[in-house]
This record gives sequence, C-alpha cells and structure tokens, in this order.
Amino acid sequence: MDALHRGDPEVAAIVDRETQRQIETLELIASENYASSAVLGATGSVFTNKYAEGYPGKRYYAGNVHSDELETLAIERAKQLFGAEHANVQCTSGAEANMAAYLAFAEPGDTIMGMELTQGGHLTHGSPVNFSGKLYHFVPYTVDRESETIDMDALRAIARDAKPRIIVAGATAYPRAIDFKTFGEIAREVGALLMVDMAHIAGLVAGGVHESPVPHAGLVTSTTHKTLRGPRGAMALSTLENADALDRAVFPGTQGGPHLHSIAGKAVAFAEALKPEFKTYARQIVANAAALAEGLIAGGIRLVSGGTDNHLILVDCNSANISGLKAQNALQGAGIITNRNTIPYDERSAYVTSGLRLGTPALTSRGMGPAEMKQVASWIVRVLRDPDGDGLREAVRDEVASFAKGYPVPGITDREA
Ligand SMILES: *Cc1c(COP(=O)(O)O)cnc(C)c1O
Repeated sequence: MDALHRGDPEVAAIVDRETQRQIETLELIASENYASSAVLGATGSVFTNKYAEGYPGKRYYAGNVHSDELETLAIERAKQLFGAEHANVQCTSGAEANMAAYLAFAEPGDTIMGMELTQGGHLTHGSPVNFSGKLYHFVPYTVDRESETIDMDALRAIARDAKPRIIVAGATAYPRAIDFKTFGEIAREVGALLMVDMAHIAGLVAGGVHESPVPHAGLVTSTTHKTLRGPRGAMALSTLENADALDRAVFPGTQGGPHLHSIAGKAVAFAEALKPEFKTYARQIVANAAALAEGLIAGGIRLVSGGTDNHLILVDCNSANISGLKAQNALQGAGIITNRNTIPYDERSAYVTSGLRLGTPALTSRGMGPAEMKQVASWIVRVLRDPDGDGLREAVRDEVASFAKGYPVPGITDREA
C-alpha cells in the first residue's frame, strides 16, 4: 500500500476510481493526454515544498541552488525543443501565460485581434466573461463560411482597419493547419506583435508535423499538458528582444512563486519530446486523426472544413440530426469521452452547440493506430445515429471497456509493479 492509501484512504479511493475510469474509457478530448510515469514522478516530487520567487540566479529566498539547476535545465530544453531564443517555464496555466503576454505587450483598452470564440478561439482571446475581454478591446477574425478555414485576406483587411497592438493566432477547436508565416507578414505590415498561442498543437510543432510559429512570432505561449504530453502547466517563448518584458509580466506581473514541481515535470516532458520516438508519436497522432475522420465521413457524418490536418476533428452533429450536448452525453454513456463544441456560424447556443470535438493525442499515447481508429469511428457513428437506442449505449460501453483494457495507459498501466 502506498503513502496516499495509508495517509488518506478517502482521497486514495477517489484517485483509484479515476484511474479505473481512465483505463476503461476512450479519451477523445482533444486537449487531454496521459503524462508518463517519469513526468508524474517529477510532478509529485519534493519541489512542491520550495519557494523560488524570481528567476535562476536572482531569487528572493535562500535555498534555491537546486531550484536554479532545475529551472535552468527546463529553460535550456524548451529552447532546444522549439528553437527559441528565450523561454519562460514558470507560467502555471495557458490562461496565465496569455494574461502575462497581454500585460507585457499591451495597455488596458488597447486593440488585440483574436479568433472568434465560437469558431475556435479560446476564452482568453477576448471572451466578454474573461479578463481578456474586460481589459482589452478585442476585434475578432473569422473563418470563411464556405471553406470553414481562416480567411487570411479578410483577416488582413480587418488588421489594416483595426491597427491592433497584438494579433493572436491559435485556437482550441480548429482542425486545420494555421499559416503562421502569413500571420507574421500581416502583423509586420500593420505594426502589430504576432503572438501565437500554440496550446493545442505544441506537441505537433515539437514533433515536426505542424509549421513552427517560432520564426514568425515575437511571442509564443503554450500549455504543456495537451499534445506535448507534459504536466499540467504552461510556458512562453520569445525573441531575445521581448524576453525581459515577458519575464517581468510573468513574475512579478501576474504570478507569485513558481510551481517548481511542475517545472520538474516540464523538464522531463521536454526531454521526452526531444527523443526521436516523439516524432513518431506526433506523426501517428495526425495519421490517426485522418483515419478517424475517414471512418466518420464513411458513416455519413459531416466534418467542419471536410476533414483535418492536425490532431482534432470538429463533427457537425446536424448531419446526425442531434445537438452537440446530446451527442456528448450519449457517447459518455458508451464510454467514449468527448466534448461538445460550437461549430462556425452555429445556430445553437454555446451550451447546447451543434458540434463535437474529437482528438487523437490520448488514444495515440495508448499505442492505437489507424485500424483502431476505424473501430472507434464505427462505435461513434452507431451511437450518434441512435443516441436513445435501447441498450445500445450499455452494449457499446462493454465493448469499449474490454477493448480499451488491451492498450496500456502511460503513467498508469505501463508502470513497473
Ligand atoms: C487550453 C488552452 C488555453 C488554456 O490553458 P489552461 O491551462 O487551461 O489555462 C489557452 N489557449 C488555448 C488555445 C488553449 O487551447
């Protein structure tokens, strides 16, 4: 029995139930993944005990010799992984990284351009209920109604007109490659800073299967726990020119002491992503998304933009005559975990939605390939076509559970006993 089971059986039992859920269900939430045992070990280390306000070599507290070693190592690995001039690994979440970015490079009230939220942008890209929309004047850009891809010509026209301080590129529910080079050209043309929020695709960038934003952007923010497969947390990369402003905006601008245990996990994850196997993993994520998309299309399901270039798929649930909410709930009943999402020009509310977002990073981490994706697609089509079917969800759930148990979960069932 481990320390948690001895010390707090009640919490341990909840953790055990969650562990079982993660083993028995199929995780298709595009922003989720399984951190390795090494990442979990680093994150659960004694670095949780230490305060280290400041940066390596410039701390406000004593006792930071090993904190400095750790953070310096994480910074060097992040720079190497992404070819960046500067890295800040203290950001505790994607939202806080974005807050620091705006604090560093805009004044309250300034104009910032971001992707329209109902079309794939993030809450921190100008939602009226979020600090971003309350403190800054956000001007959205959209996708083209026909192609459902970002309309770069329309974006250029909006940028010329709005003259933003910052243009934010990056999304949470956009299934296509983003043209960072053209984003960079437009930003330069209108005198704006290009900030790329690559939270979703950082692992694809690290693995070389999506264009890197680093050569085109003055600032790049990212989470570390999505396709990058690290601990829950974030980071920011910048040019040397922007380094000081970024660092001051993270600490003391928006955060207190860094989460060193999480920085330990990030350092491990960066090293894992530097290995050749990670390139294979990233390629497999994309190949799996393509196979899943093909299976859904063959089942008569329409996908936003007609398919995918990356790790995610946005299903138009109208093609199965149900809402996103109903689809999400029916699939959950079948052991398939997804999230509902608005689709471009959605006619349903943001709570009900007409879309379903699916991603392959987690299933790919379990070693699944295109053949397994075809099987998963057929279960999804069956449930979407008959969401109230008598006993259908229960039958699929049993099939899913016995199927899922055949694939080891990193950090859980691949551990040495
Ligand atoms: C996930 C995500 C975030 C927020 O990350 P948190 O760690 O949940 O705060 C920000 N931007 C984008 C594009 C994201 O996908």
